[in-house]
Amino acid sequence: MPEATDVTDHGGGVWSIPVPIPDNPLGHTLVHLLDTDRGPVLIDTGWDDPTAWDALTAGLAACGTDVSAIHGILVTHHHPDHHGLSGQVREASGAWIAMHGADAHVVRRTREADPTLWLDYLAEKLAAAGAPEDHLAPLRAARAEGRTDLPGGRAALPDREIAPGRLLDLPGRRLRAIWTPGHTPGHVCLHLEEAHPREDAAARGHGRLFSGDHLLPGISPHIGLYEDPADAHRTDPLGDYLASLERVAALGPAEVLPAHQHAFTDAPARVRALLDHHQARLENLRALLAAPLTPWQLAERMEWNRPWPDIPYGSRNIAVSEAEAHLRRLVNLGRAEPVPGTDPVAYQAR
Ligand SMILES: [Zn+2]
Ligand SMILES: [Zn+2]
Repeated sequence: MPEATDVTDHGGGVWSIPVPIPDNPLGHTLVHLLDTDRGPVLIDTGWDDPTAWDALTAGLAACGTDVSAIHGILVTHHHPDHHGLSGQVREASGAWIAMHGADAHVVRRTREADPTLWLDYLAEKLAAAGAPEDHLAPLRAARAEGRTDLPGGRAALPDREIAPGRLLDLPGRRLRAIWTPGHTPGHVCLHLEEAHPREDAAARGHGRLFSGDHLLPGISPHIGLYEDPADAHRTDPLGDYLASLERVAALGPAEVLPAHQHAFTDAPARVRALLDHHQARLENLRALLAAPLTPWQLAERMEWNRPWPDIPYGSRNIAVSEAEAHLRRLVNLGRAEPVPGTDPVAYQAR
């Protein structure tokens, strides 16, 4: 059984429960519990796995409640380490599940996706990014074998929509949804507009921010292209993310309660560090584009946490998506451009 003593009481009817993510260097998701006059509400739920479920239920017990008492679930974004257990909590409690419409759309689309079409879409997208044939082969093989084990295919459909900018319907609490697209199209942070329960902390800023994956103390979250086979709209996720960072810095929360790592203060300083990091990264990438490169070639030359040949298959797809998001931003800034007549399209600095 997991150690229920890992639960942190943040004061003022707010707790965090570390819920493990199996085989993942992140370690755990910090699921937050918020007391309301109608019963406890969860912010995120954790990975869909028996060990995680045990940690969540033991954690709730350590907070003096029970999973059957959960009144509602607020999901910061659709990723499985946040939304994975939502369906099981709803089954055990009758709680509602709320999510921003753009991420609810992703959940619905993934559930309804024809795996064959999805594999075709992935293969086409990677080929257009300049992926070599040996990288595309496993996708073609999966399609030929009719494999249907797509991740996220069983995620719970939310039954309420989180309206950005509005106070949530939580009796006894002032919690406002802040739309922070970038990491996903419908990511939200939740701003608890109540004085921090510790007086010294209350003087530092305005309330507390549940930041999901948007603002983390020591990690820069993955920003890739939003993937939607049916959407021809040219989105700019990195542009969205940088604008969302400015938005949460302006809130000036006294404390940030993120979904990974640990709580921290001085959100504006963390935002500045992330903005600087992305600024420097965009400059580096632009320097790499002195000679034309496809997104795949750019990804091979970018700095990752290990050399390109050691990056596993699935992570390479994520890396290419991140390279594409940066290229999209550079093009929108007028700092790079596609080279006419190239196929797959190569980009160069301008
Ligand atoms: Zn995430
Ligand atoms: Zn996460």
